Amino acid sequence: MEYSSEVLSKIKAESYVSKKVQMQGIEHKGLFAIEKILKDEIVSISGGVILSKEEFEKIYSGSSDHAYYIAENFLICPLNPVNPSDDWRMNHCCEPNCGVKGQIIFVAIKDIEVGEELTFDYAMTETDPDYSFPLSCKKSICRNKFTGNDFKIKEVQEKYKGYFSVYVQDKIDKLEGN
Ligand SMILES: [Zn+2]
Repeated sequence: MEYSSEVLSKIKAESYVSKKVQMQGIEHKGLFAIEKILKDEIVSISGGVILSKEEFEKIYSGSSDHAYYIAENFLICPLNPVNPSDDWRMNHCCEPNCGVKGQIIFVAIKDIEVGEELTFDYAMTETDPDYSFPLSCKKSICRNKFTGNDFKIKEVQEKYKGYFSVYVQDKIDKLEGN
């Protein structure tokens, strides 16, 4: 069985995004609450294309701000890597209000008020030691620089217990002393 090009052209979003969430912003794009969201409510579920590490590195030249690992050697990537659907726009924050359940489900980790930006800590999904970028969360506890090794930081592990992706939690469990 194969989807016809007509059916494919109708598929605009590959993911679930809560109706309480909307993408806003021009230069700084992000997801914002347009209705109050309660702790543990699902805010989005990623859908997209599953690529092996090998395929991913060929297509993305090795890095992407959006794709993330869901299992050893497998990543979930946006259907459209140039213009990803809204759920892929959730930004990093060192004091986030969202976290991960399973591999692809994003939930609120505290009540979120109308107008608040939805954020998660990329340490919840990212373990690539070569991936890093400067942070400017404007929070007193900002780590200043994100790296794919942040999931190894004890305070980070304790802070987000229960909200790491299964893929990252497995890696934490295998670290010495855990
Ligand atoms: Zn920060």
